[in-house]
Amino acid sequence: METTGDGRSKPRLRPINRHQMMLRPVEVERLVAEDHEVRAIWEFVGRLDLGSYYEEIEALEGEAGRAAWDPKLMVSLWVYAYSKGVSSGREISRLCETDPAYQWLTGMEAVNYHTLCDFRVAHQRALEELFTEILGLLSVEGLITLERVMQDGTKVKACASGDTFRREERIRAHLEKAREQVKQMGDPRVSEEVSPRVAKARERASREKRERLEKAVEELEKIRGAKTGEEDKEQAWVSMTDPEARIMKQGGGGGYGPSYNMQVSTDEANKVIVGVGVTQSGTDYGELEEAEERIEKNMGRSPLEMVVDGGFVSRGNILAMEKRKVGLIGPLEDGVAQSAGQMKRRGVEEAFRPDQFGYDAEQDTYWCPAGKPLRLEGKEKRMGKVNYQYRARVEDCQKCCHKMRCCPQNGSKGRAIVRGVDAPEVIAYLAKMKTEEAKAIYKLRGEVAEFPNAWLKEKIGLRQFRLRGLLKVGMEALWACLTYNIQQWVRLRWRPRLA
Ligand code: SF4
Repeated sequence: METTGDGRSKPRLRPINRHQMMLRPVEVERLVAEDHEVRAIWEFVGRLDLGSYYEEIEALEGEAGRAAWDPKLMVSLWVYAYSKGVSSGREISRLCETDPAYQWLTGMEAVNYHTLCDFRVAHQRALEELFTEILGLLSVEGLITLERVMQDGTKVKACASGDTFRREERIRAHLEKAREQVKQMGDPRVSEEVSPRVAKARERASREKRERLEKAVEELEKIRGAKTGEEDKEQAWVSMTDPEARIMKQGGGGGYGPSYNMQVSTDEANKVIVGVGVTQSGTDYGELEEAEERIEKNMGRSPLEMVVDGGFVSRGNILAMEKRKVGLIGPLEDGVAQSAGQMKRRGVEEAFRPDQFGYDAEQDTYWCPAGKPLRLEGKEKRMGKVNYQYRARVEDCQKCCHKMRCCPQNGSKGRAIVRGVDAPEVIAYLAKMKTEEAKAIYKLRGEVAEFPNAWLKEKIGLRQFRLRGLLKVGMEALWACLTYNIQQWVRLRWRPRLA
């Protein structure tokens, strides 16, 4: 008998045998507990009308060929995966073989990752209908009121890095090369001896590269069209990896990088997302009307009120929302900071800024700090505003001892001042925004709007899109948001039912 140093027998331990084969019975139904979230997702998806997905299935009863995967399973797999921060088809396929929740969903069947990836992006119309269908169910359950919707835009990184951006000359050179490569595919004089599978994969990769570069040239034209200066047009560049991504400023001090602008509309009552869209615009001004239209399309009616941050509020948007009979709450940033910057750039000292010029309404004239008049010169109509321009006589300014402090860059013209007069709707809006009620409503915005954004980024992992191109990232955003909505239902309806 073996003993230790103090004369005691050595401890007897269980051996580990990793070279044995085992067969174990598995009761699939008991792989997950009764209150496991995957059961809630399966139940919820089971209540949805997935008709559009079924319509697209080519395998039919009574005909030859392999049976298709049930869309109910595919939707549940993706929703459950997104809820756990998994957005890779390859990873889901792996989890279907190892993770009890995925195994419960599939009934222990393996699902090929190509099938999963194709399902995610192959059915745009069906996916949009799925999103609407989910909203319908949540509405029936009393989780959506549309009394107040908070609109917010958040930048999500594109699946491309900053150093994939090139100017026209380089892109065209790459495109020529890619076209040549596609042409040579299948030419026995040039092609290497490879298996048909490898040849097919190579052909697909070359074709996709060529298509991407053709898209890059197209996008470059679009960017050029939007620029005004000749130099800016020359300098236009685009990503060769994801040509539809745009360089945008990331929130939270994240710097600039290739991104998309994801617009999320959140119903205040239970923080359900009632609309989502992805755009290429780095600012939010142009996104409000479209967001309202999306909500109306999804829900069949408009929200009573939309609450937004200053990035959405323009005079044009105030008029547009008035026309749509949708209340708007949000600060109108009237450009004071911008004008201060402009004044500085023009070399105007503080003592000669516009607020130092007195306006005489009776004579419709401004008087400058040197006591000279600035008379009405013309007016310019803008959305929700008319700008009246007043100008001093050039002789007065040329002779003035303050010229270098007041208008140092003016050569042949006297100093000008602009008086903006808002449209009645804008005046009423500004008065509303001064009320305590409007201020209190605006204070609610941050918490409601930022909750889903934080959830989408932290829990679902949507800090960066996995897919490329506006259409596909739009679908990815839909998957993430519908997953979030189902999780809201699980939290607010399914879990309390179990308690
Ligand atoms: S530069 Fe012209 S506008 Fe300015 S203070 Fe002198 S006279 Fe007045």
